[in-house]
Amino acid sequence: MQDLIAALRRALGEDGVLSAGEARERLPEGSGAQVLLLPRSTEQVSQALALCQRAGCAVVPQGGLTGLVQGTATGPSEVALSLARLRQIEELDRLNRCMTVQAGVPLEAAQAAAEAEGLLLPVDLGARGSATIGGMISTNAGGNRVLRFGMMRDSVLGLEAVLADGTVIDSRSKLLKNNTGYDLKQLFVGTEGTLGVVTRAVLRLRQLPAFRGTALVALDSFAHVLQLLARMEARLFNTLSSFEVMWQPFYRLVTSAPARGRPILGTEHPYYVLLETLGMDAEKDQEALAAALAEAEGEGLISGAVLAQSGAQRRQMWALRDDVEQLHRYGPAFAYDVSLSLEAMEGYVSRVEQQLRERFTEHRLYVFGHLADGNLHVVVQVPELTAYDRVSEIVYSALASRNSSVSAEHGIGLLKKRELARSRSAPELELMRTLKRALDPANILNPGKIFEPAR
Ligand SMILES: Cc1cc2nc3c(=O)[nH]c(=O)nc-3n(C[C@H](O)[C@H](O)[C@H](O)COP(=O)(O)OP(=O)(O)OC[C@H]3O[C@@H](n4cnc5c(N)ncnc54)[C@H](O)[C@@H]3O)c2cc1C
Repeated sequence: MQDLIAALRRALGEDGVLSAGEARERLPEGSGAQVLLLPRSTEQVSQALALCQRAGCAVVPQGGLTGLVQGTATGPSEVALSLARLRQIEELDRLNRCMTVQAGVPLEAAQAAAEAEGLLLPVDLGARGSATIGGMISTNAGGNRVLRFGMMRDSVLGLEAVLADGTVIDSRSKLLKNNTGYDLKQLFVGTEGTLGVVTRAVLRLRQLPAFRGTALVALDSFAHVLQLLARMEARLFNTLSSFEVMWQPFYRLVTSAPARGRPILGTEHPYYVLLETLGMDAEKDQEALAAALAEAEGEGLISGAVLAQSGAQRRQMWALRDDVEQLHRYGPAFAYDVSLSLEAMEGYVSRVEQQLRERFTEHRLYVFGHLADGNLHVVVQVPELTAYDRVSEIVYSALASRNSSVSAEHGIGLLKKRELARSRSAPELELMRTLKRALDPANILNPGKIFEPAR
C-alpha cells in the first residue's frame, strides 16, 4: 500500500491524496479507507485507476455521500475516490438545450446554472444541495418529476467515464438520437460505480416553466387516490409533473411539533396528495388546475384541497413532504424504497401493517412516495434496534414476486445485496456478472457492491 500511495501522490499531487485522518470529514461514517483520493481532472482519475488496478487495490468512488445503501462503504484495503474537485459547469448550450458538467457538481448548482439561462434541469430531489451529478447518474436518481421527465437516465445525453484500467470512454454526445451500436453511456447509469467512474455528463435541459401550480389535496380512500391520478393526467396533460402521496401517519408526523410544519388541511383524512403542474401560461394553467380540482371535488373524489397562492405557500407544502428528519423522531427507523404496481399498493401496505402488528408489540409505520411512479417509501420504527432483518423480511416478502422491486431509488449497495434476487432472475444476475467481468476483470471498482462478482 505504501508504494501505491507514493505513486498516487506523484500522479495527483500531495493534496490529491489525503490520509484517513486528514479526510475524516469527507469520508462516509464508518469508512475503513486508509486514503482518500481527490483528483482534479479526468486524466488524474485515469492515472489513479491505472495505478490502483496495477497494484490490485480496490477503488470506491464517492460523490455527495447522500446514498443510503452503503454504496460508498470502504474497507481497510480499499481506496476512496472523491469527485469533489471535479465541479466545473463546463458549457451551457442554449441552442441544443443541454449542459456539460463535471461529475462532482451538486444538483442544486447545476439546476441554478440552467435556470440562469432560462432552462430547466428537471430531475429534482430533497438532497439537491449535496447529491452530485456523478452520484445521481450512478444511482439513476429519480425524484419529484419522474412522472413527466423521467429519471436521471432520461436526462443524460452523453457522458465520460473512466474504466477500471484507466481507459477514458468519451461518450459526451449531445445528440438525442444516436443509434450507432450499443448505447454505452447506459453502462454507467444506475450501476453504482461498479463498471466505471463517471467524470463528466451532458445533461438534457427543458424550457424553464413560467408557472408552477401546486395543490395539496385530502382524500378518503385509496381508490380515490388512483382515480384522481388518472383524472389529473387526463385533464392536465402536458403540465402535470408531480403526484406525491402521504399516508395519514406521515402527514400527522410532519404537521405536529416538534416538526415546523402545521396542517394545511385537517389531519383526519387517510390520504394526502401533493400535486404540481409546470407550464408556460400562468393564468390558463392556474385556471386549468383549479378547474380539474373543482371537477374532482364535485364528483366526490376529493374531500378538500388548497391551491398554493404564493411561492411561500408552495414551499410550505413541499416542506411537509420533504421533512424526512421527522421519521427519526422516536428513534432510529428502517427506511425502504420499493416499487410496485398501483393496483397492488393498498393491499401491500395493509399486509405490512398487519405483519408488523403481529410480530412487534410496538411499531410505527410511515408511508409516502412518488405514487405516479409506483414508488413508495416505507419507514418502520420499532423499539428493537436489532430488528432490521425481521422488519426487512416483512417489507420485502409482502411484495409480489413479479412487477415489484426492492429498490426504486437508492440502489443496492451493500445493504440490499441479499435482497437482489427477489427482484432479478438468475439469468439476469448472471448477465450482470458477465458485464462486470468484461469491464472490470480484476474486480477493483466498488467490489462487493450490488452482487458478488463470481460464484
Ligand atoms: C433527503 C434525500 C432525498 C432523496 N430523494 C430521492 C428521490 O426522490 N429519488 C431518488 O431516486 N433518490 C433520492 N435520494 C437518493 C439520491 O438520489 C442519492 O443519494 C444520490 O443520487 C447519490 O448521489 P451522491 O452524489 O450523494 O452519491 P454517493 O452517495 O456519494 O454515492 C452513491 C453511489 O454512487 C457511486 N458514485 C458516486 N459518484 C460516482 C461517480 N462519479 N462515478 C461512479 N460512481 C459514483 C458510489 O460509489 C455509490 O455507489 C434521496 C436521498 C436523500 C438523502
